Amino acid sequence: MPVTMYYQDDADLSIIGAKKVAVIGYGSQGEAHALSLRDSGVDVTVGLAEGSKSRAKVTDAGLKVATPAEASEWADVIMLLVPDHVARHVYAESVEPHLTAGKALFFAHGFNIRFGYIKPAADIAVIMVAPKGPGHLVRRQFADGKGVPALVAVEQDPNGDGLALGLSYAKGIGATRAGVIETTFTEETETDLFGEQSVLCGGVSSLVQSGFEILTEAGYAPEIAYFECLHELKLIVDLMYEGGIAKQRWSCSDTAEYGDYISGPRIIDDSVRERMRGVLADIKDGSFAARFIADQDAGAPEFKKLRAQGEAHPIEETGRKLRKLMSWVAADDDYTGTAAR
Ligand code: NAD
Ligand code: MG
Ligand code: MG
Ligand code: MG
Ligand code: MG
Repeated sequence: MPVTMYYQDDADLSIIGAKKVAVIGYGSQGEAHALSLRDSGVDVTVGLAEGSKSRAKVTDAGLKVATPAEASEWADVIMLLVPDHVARHVYAESVEPHLTAGKALFFAHGFNIRFGYIKPAADIAVIMVAPKGPGHLVRRQFADGKGVPALVAVEQDPNGDGLALGLSYAKGIGATRAGVIETTFTEETETDLFGEQSVLCGGVSSLVQSGFEILTEAGYAPEIAYFECLHELKLIVDLMYEGGIAKQRWSCSDTAEYGDYISGPRIIDDSVRERMRGVLADIKDGSFAARFIADQDAGAPEFKKLRAQGEAHPIEETGRKLRKLMSWVAADDDYTGTAAR
């Protein structure tokens, strides 16, 4: 099916400009949306709990802050940018009581609607603007006059203006500069989870760790394994981003390109593709979502164990050492580890 794409001229910023917008949460996406909407002339209040550590950051940025309940009561448009596993609690406690007819509830990911954890009343517009990139880049690109592409979807449209409102919001965070694709909550949720699990986060992380392990087990220097399997990945991906896989192959040596054709399919073979289909099946039937939510509700024992295991992988120590010696890389590294989360 051909997709419908929207750009700057397809979106009217004055629609969102006439609304009061509550951005609930001030994490990766929340900060990016709040600052960029504000810079686009939108009246924004950030919703954060009374004791939240992020409150000072919000007021330092010159934004208004209120509790999630106060912000939801005040707003016409409420964008829920808290972690997906927390969203249904914040929604029930602070948002739902203030969702009077005519208000719009926004999401940046369809998880809670797709899997039924949040069920807004029929007289509420339910709209998604989902940037296809990390929040910190959503802000950085906006500030640079660029944009991160986004998906827009309308699940409930009691006023009939949901798409125009969603596109207007998307313009306010710079997404229409890059292109906005119209989709559904179901398609966004399933493709987003599949992409991050099998390619972007899960696939790439496991591939990099495995490459590092194989080389170091074979006695090669961890520093060389790090440069080869992790550092250089960014340079390769930059070429793909600019000109597709074809440009990456053009830029690397013929030796590398031939090795790509010969060995790539030995690594990612039909057995891997079969397991990728299994990952997609677990997403579609809700079993991934149920496992994630059950673990979170139990205090996230599995999640915390896996995160600690990941941080203890030898590639992290090697990387910390090497990045310190590359001042321009170190300057971009604002990650301080689990202790600071
Ligand atoms: P995050 O973990 O970075 O930030 C969440 C913020 O929510 C916290 O900083 C905090 O301010 C707030 N928060 C946490 N618990 C809260 C509570 N109990 N009450 C009120 N506020 C609370 O989250 P995120 O990664 O920005 O994700 C937000 C949404 O955006 C999710 O739906 C996610 O799927 C979606 N999304 C994220 C990205 C990304 O780049 N991280 C990309 C696309 C879509
Ligand atoms: Mg994603
Ligand atoms: Mg995601
Ligand atoms: Mg090489
Ligand atoms: Mg070449």
